[in-house]
Amino acid sequence: MSVFSTFSQQPLPAEADAVIIGAGIQGCATAYYLAKRGAKVVVLEKSRIAGQQSGRAWGFVRAMDRDPAETPLMLACLKLWQGLEAELGTDLEWRQDGNLFLASDEAELARFEIGAARDRIFGIDTKVITPEEISKLIPGLVDPGPGGLWGPKEGQAEPRKVSPAFARKATELGALFFEGCGAIGIDRQAGAVTAVISETGTIRTKKVIVAAGASSFRVMRGLGLILPQQLARFTCSRTNTLPPLSSIAFYGHHIGFRQRPDGSLNLAEELKVDIDLTLDRFRALRWFLPSLWDNRHATSFSVNMATARDLLHRMPWRGEARQPWIHDRDPLIPANGRRIRNAVAQLGRLFPAAVGVQAIESWAGNVDLMPDGIPVLGPVAEIPGLILATGMTGHGFGMGPIVGKLMSEIALDGKPSIDLHAFRFSRYAEGKVGRSTTHY
Ligand SMILES: Cc1cc2nc3c(=O)[nH]c(=O)nc-3n(C[C@H](O)[C@H](O)[C@H](O)COP(=O)(O)OP(=O)(O)OC[C@H]3O[C@@H](n4cnc5c(N)ncnc54)[C@H](O)[C@@H]3O)c2cc1C
Repeated sequence: MSVFSTFSQQPLPAEADAVIIGAGIQGCATAYYLAKRGAKVVVLEKSRIAGQQSGRAWGFVRAMDRDPAETPLMLACLKLWQGLEAELGTDLEWRQDGNLFLASDEAELARFEIGAARDRIFGIDTKVITPEEISKLIPGLVDPGPGGLWGPKEGQAEPRKVSPAFARKATELGALFFEGCGAIGIDRQAGAVTAVISETGTIRTKKVIVAAGASSFRVMRGLGLILPQQLARFTCSRTNTLPPLSSIAFYGHHIGFRQRPDGSLNLAEELKVDIDLTLDRFRALRWFLPSLWDNRHATSFSVNMATARDLLHRMPWRGEARQPWIHDRDPLIPANGRRIRNAVAQLGRLFPAAVGVQAIESWAGNVDLMPDGIPVLGPVAEIPGLILATGMTGHGFGMGPIVGKLMSEIALDGKPSIDLHAFRFSRYAEGKVGRSTTHY
């Protein structure tokens, strides 16, 4: 059945307690927590496990300086991360050595003070620190800037390991993963979910969790609902092995990195994104104008192969028309060479010990953005049985475990153990959408 891997050699089952669309970290974690409670779970993945964002992330697991709606989730999530290697029985490169944002100027330092005060209300010990304190934390850094925002308990893990680990453990507990097998429809009776139609057959179920990342808006559109979700392209590199620079997750002087246990770095130009101009760009544009304006210095627009591929997919004989839910099964997402060169050169300038640094591997991923910068999590009132876990807006790797746990609770208990009102899908229809407080 699977054309890609050893997962799902069994035939597609006729029914399941829950079907999950998408095997990124949200889908894999949800499958694990459902299977752990004895539910019969099927995960449909149009390509391969963690083939999109979840296998391409840098690996920062950040609770600090989040939208306040997300902070309670991340506090609960850090507890899950702390036990995850033991629970999943494998190395995830998990460590909790802190996160440092350098300020670029006094105005940013003042913004950090506000963020730190907000975090402390939730019990997170985020604080603004001086250049001297930064130099003590990272002695090899030549310029500590005017100060920074420091979170000593922040974490990191390796994205290429985490989703497959959830999927493997879920499989041991009876979940079935089908790679290369997309969802192409959802059957309903009296409005409620009754089955999911996949490329290779139909599965009867009363619960569907849509965790389709940057394609979730396509699934929702297929159901006649509008999810105002957009895409932005993040570029990232892995460097050669370097001497120890810092075990802290670092953002500053226009770069972000984390050093892995083998000495290599996941390195990027800090929070800079590319927007490929496709026709879909104009969909939901009105929702995004404020955040595009706020992020104008961090955003570049391109007409490129993605533009051409998008047009091709709109031809009557191609994806958009014939398979609107699948569209581009494995989108071509080119890394931005300029951003790679900038990040490598800047690392060399900031850390003399990084002399000889090279990007030995680079990639990009399409991040799924929501206009208010927070995800959509929870049931969809219009279609009983439909649950959304999407729109992670560039910071959903760190949140994956708690999202999975909460989605399993909604599917099995009817309600989550943490209030998800702020993340409801209906906020867009209600027009109750705040301005994003996060910069991607
Ligand atoms: C370069 C980069 C760096 C990042 N760094 C960080 C970081 O350091 N920390 C952090 O917290 N976050 C980070 N993120 C964001 C994070 O990776 C995402 O928020 C998170 O992985 C989203 O997970 P997901 O499961 O929602 O989506 P995805 O991982 O994108 O998975 C969705 C899956 O759904 C599948 N799918 C789509 N349509 C269908 C269909 N019809 N049928 C079946 N399957 C379907 C897709 O093929 C895909 O595999 C980064 C992202 C990128 C690209």
